[in-house]
Amino acid sequence: MTTSQEAASPDVLARNCPKCGTDNLAAAALKYSWQNWKLKGCAVCGFVYLENPPGYEALVSEFAWERNHGDRGKRMREEYPLSYYFSRYWTPIRRRVIRKPNKTASRIAASFPPGPVVDIGCGTGDQLAQLPAAYEPYGVEISEELAHRARERLADRGGKVFAMSAIDGLAAIPEGTVSGIIMRSFLEHEQQPGKLLGLAWRTLRPGGAAIIKVPNYACVNRRVLGNRWCGFRFPGHVNYFTPRSLREMVEAAGFQVDRFGLFDRFYLSDNMWMVVSKPNAAP
Ligand SMILES: [Zn+2]
Repeated sequence: MTTSQEAASPDVLARNCPKCGTDNLAAAALKYSWQNWKLKGCAVCGFVYLENPPGYEALVSEFAWERNHGDRGKRMREEYPLSYYFSRYWTPIRRRVIRKPNKTASRIAASFPPGPVVDIGCGTGDQLAQLPAAYEPYGVEISEELAHRARERLADRGGKVFAMSAIDGLAAIPEGTVSGIIMRSFLEHEQQPGKLLGLAWRTLRPGGAAIIKVPNYACVNRRVLGNRWCGFRFPGHVNYFTPRSLREMVEAAGFQVDRFGLFDRFYLSDNMWMVVSKPNAAP
C-alpha cells in the first residue's frame, strides 16, 4: 500500500496540502499548472501548492540553479516575448531611478537583537555579508557550490555556512540560540513549510525574530496577468501564500506577528513581508 506522501518516483514527490494536510490527489489541477507540474487548491483550506515537486535530491542536482536564477526567463521569452523584454529592460532602469532602499537591512536592524543570524537559502552570502558587525552570520544553502562561495566570502566574519537542506540546517543549530532568521524568497520553495517554521521557532532564542518575504498569491498582478504572473515558477515555487494563509501558518508554529501592515502586504506588490518573533517567556 502506498500513501500520497510517498514518492511517485524517486525524484518527484506527491504532497498533501502543506498547510492542513488534506489529500487533494483526486482533485483537478488548477488552470495555472504548467507541463507536468500540478498546482492544486486545497479543497479544505484553499491553500495553493505544487502537488508534485522535485525531491530534495533532485533539487540539489537539477534545480539548484533554477532555484536561484529561474527557468522563468526562458519560458517568458518563448511564450510572452513582449512582457519578457519589457520586464527585462524596464526593471533595471526603474531600480536605478527609484533607488529602492534595502528593506531587509533596515528590518534586520530594527527587529533582530545582536547575536547569531541565520539566512535560510543564503546563496553566495550576499545578505549575510551586509550584516552589521553586531551580528554573526550563519547560512544554510542546499547547493554545495553556492555554500562554498558563501564560506569564502564570509571567512573573515566568523560564523558558518551549512551545505544542506533548510530543515537539516536548522535542526543542526542548538535550540534557543539564534537572534534572527532571514527567510527571504525562501518559504515558497520549501516542501515542508510548516515543519520549517516549527524548526525556526525552536532555533530562535526568546526575543529573537524572523523576517519573511514571499510572493503574494492574492496580489492584483496574479489576477490580471494569470499565467504570466512572475510568482509562478515551475517547479521552483511549491507554496503560494496569501496574507491570511501566511499569518495562520506562522501563528500555528508559535510565532507572534510583529509587523505585517498594509504596505507590507500591499495588493499592488507581487511580494509581501512579515516580521515575526518568539515572545519572551512569561515571568
Ligand atoms: Zn489545506
